[in-house]
Amino acid sequence: MICLDCLQGKIDERYKSLCVRHGIDLISVLYIFRGPFVLAMGKSWCPEHFVCANPRCGCKLIDVGFVEEGGHLYCEQDYAQHFAPKCHKCTRAIVGECVNALSQQWHPECFLCGKCHQPIGGTQFHIEEGKPYCEKDWGAMFQTMCAGCEFPIEPGDRWVEAMSKNFHSECFYCMTCQVSLEGQPFYCKSGKPFCKKHAR
Ligand SMILES: [Zn+2]
Ligand SMILES: [Zn+2]
Ligand SMILES: [Zn+2]
Ligand SMILES: [Zn+2]
Ligand SMILES: [Zn+2]
Ligand SMILES: [Zn+2]
Repeated sequence: MICLDCLQGKIDERYKSLCVRHGIDLISVLYIFRGPFVLAMGKSWCPEHFVCANPRCGCKLIDVGFVEEGGHLYCEQDYAQHFAPKCHKCTRAIVGECVNALSQQWHPECFLCGKCHQPIGGTQFHIEEGKPYCEKDWGAMFQTMCAGCEFPIEPGDRWVEAMSKNFHSECFYCMTCQVSLEGQPFYCKSGKPFCKKHAR
C-alpha cells in the first residue's frame, strides 16, 4: 500500500506527464483519485487540454457534449456541422442515436412506420415496397394468417388454401371430428371445413 499523503508532492510534479497530449495515456487509479482528470476514450486528459479538436473552436469539452470522430474529440456543434450524418426526413444533423435503413440515416424519432406513423426507433421493423413498417402493422398488412389458429403462416410452413382462406396444414381439419382434411374432399358450412360424414 502507498500512502496518498506521502505521494502528494510527487503527484503535482508528475501531473503533466499524465496528459495524453504529453504522450502518456495510462494512469493509475491512484492518480484518478488525486484528480482533476478527464477520462475519455480510455485516455486521460488535463481539463485544460480536453478541448474540441477543431483548432478554430477549441472550446472546453468538459462543459459541452462531445463526440469522437477519427480518434479526435469534437464539441457537438462542430461534430454536427462537419461530420454528422444528415437525417433523411428532417435534414438536420444526427448526433447520437441513428437508424440506418433504406440506405439512409434517420433520427430514431424521424423514422416512422408507413401505417401508424409512429417512430419505429431502433426496434424490429420490416421494409415493404421501400417503406418501413413497425412489427405490428407489418404483420397485419403483409403476413398471411392462418384462419384456423390465427397465427402467421411462416415461409416453409405447409399450408392449405381453401374457402379463399389460408390454413396451416395441421389447422385444416373437420370441425366436428378433427380429422385432417389436407388433400381430402371437404365441405364448407358457415365458412368452416367439415369432413364428408359431418357435412350435414
Ligand atoms: Zn496536459
Ligand atoms: Zn468545437
Ligand atoms: Zn430527423
Ligand atoms: Zn406502425
Ligand atoms: Zn394455424
Ligand atoms: Zn368430421
